[in-house]
Amino acid sequence: MKVNVQLAAPSLSRVGKVSLETEMTAAHYMLLAGKTSSNEVLVENILSDLVDCDASQLNLTEIYHLFTLVKCVSLGGKLGIRLSCPCKVKDSVCGSDIQFEYRLEEGDVLREPKGYKVPTVQWDFGNGLQTWSVIPPALEAESFLFDWFETEKEVTRENIISKNDPDMLGIRLEYSQLRSLLHLCTEDKEPFIKNISDYQSALDSFKLKTNTFSSINSLLKYVNEEASFGVNNKTINIVCKECGGNFNYHLPLLSGISY
Ligand SMILES: [Zn+2]
Repeated sequence: MKVNVQLAAPSLSRVGKVSLETEMTAAHYMLLAGKTSSNEVLVENILSDLVDCDASQLNLTEIYHLFTLVKCVSLGGKLGIRLSCPCKVKDSVCGSDIQFEYRLEEGDVLREPKGYKVPTVQWDFGNGLQTWSVIPPALEAESFLFDWFETEKEVTRENIISKNDPDMLGIRLEYSQLRSLLHLCTEDKEPFIKNISDYQSALDSFKLKTNTFSSINSLLKYVNEEASFGVNNKTINIVCKECGGNFNYHLPLLSGISY
């Protein structure tokens, strides 16, 4: 079934409107079963067959939105989720089995407000302060970022994502800073940092006196705001019946897809 999808934040999008074929093929399931790349790249590969635009230009929130629509059709809108409770009880982890059902239809789409203007910030990459538009990076740039940390800093994607490792605080901060800078674009949505070879000098720009704390603060605020457009309740608060603790669970992109 083909549907026309109005993306949640057209003013931040590099593709705008999308015509989407909502049914995955058996070949797509085979691709998921033989998983060789990250979930996001895998989903981008699948979406490239299903959309009428250049899927490599989609950003993460758009990929999540479109793939949720595909899952709604393929899975009937209901996801069974089973987890182990991560709450701390005295000196150990609770670990109780938690099962719940999430209805994909409940994942309402949060859209950009009417008349939304692409936010701008000022940043100096070494050639003086310039005004930049803040636009979410295409998925490709997000993948390059993890590759760069792996080769240059010898840390894995898991090291960066995991919030439990205090030794990784510095790396996570650098990741968040560099990822924010990947949002900086010209007015026609051309990213300033295009090549992986420019990542270190981009990070070094934090040391320039011209770049102020308030600039990075505004940038981080806009980055978070833009990430909220799209499927808006992918983070669920779960209460454990055993220990009474509660925690936030972020629905992974591939949740519900079993193979
Ligand atoms: Zn528990």
